[in-house]
Amino acid sequence: MAIRLILLGPPGVGKGTQAKKIAEAYGVPHISTGDMLREAVRKGTPLGREAKAIMDRGDLVPDRVVIGIVSDRMAGEDCRRGWILDGFPRTVEQADALGAMLTNLGGGVQYVVSFQMEEAGLVRRLSGRRSCESCRAAFHLFFNPPKQEGICDACGGRLVQRDDDREETVRERLSVYRRKTEPLIAYYQGRGLLRIVDAGARIEEVFPKVCEIIEGQSPGGVGTAHDHPEITGGD
Ligand code: AMP
Repeated sequence: MAIRLILLGPPGVGKGTQAKKIAEAYGVPHISTGDMLREAVRKGTPLGREAKAIMDRGDLVPDRVVIGIVSDRMAGEDCRRGWILDGFPRTVEQADALGAMLTNLGGGVQYVVSFQMEEAGLVRRLSGRRSCESCRAAFHLFFNPPKQEGICDACGGRLVQRDDDREETVRERLSVYRRKTEPLIAYYQGRGLLRIVDAGARIEEVFPKVCEIIEGQSPGGVGTAHDHPEITGGD
């Protein structure tokens, strides 16, 4: 089964966590623009140097830059069997560019899974995230704490917080999401591709719902603007 999925939703909603699980279960690449940009920052490439300050203040990297990275990645041989996009597209311009890319590559988006959750929960999820400096294992101060504070269970490395997970930056990222990314809900709804998942539940409860969507067993959750008035607004 070719899986071509976009995971849409605010920062902290659990897109990355679910994307990893889906990628593993279905054997398709997980394409996270945030991960690719952070890798470029770590390596100090020209792209990383351009992106760092923008990411640290919680803003979006310019469309042309991100569109370039994704289009290179999606041309990869491993993407022919499908992919999961996590964190892209994030603007209408990116969504239009993705549409054009896919037309060229042959094959469109299967579903856009829109993860929804109230804002207070998002802030709590984001501010508690920690990851290992060495092996990148993920932890959470409330939901998945390490056995020993500040130390990775897997390799003993130091646990650190992403610069953009600090509270001031989190507020900015959420505001950018509402202004620039949330309009994509209506964009994909209008194309009949949107499926809504309540992401407030635990990881293990959310995952099967996404699987049902992928396997076409979930006629529910399609959602209309009328059923979900909260998703139509920007600000
Ligand atoms: P994420 O890990 O998806 O939360 O992304 C972290 C940061 O990377 C974002 O706050 C943006 O600064 C940048 N970024 C990731 N994906 C995109 C994108 N599609 N467009 C623009 N900036 C992005």
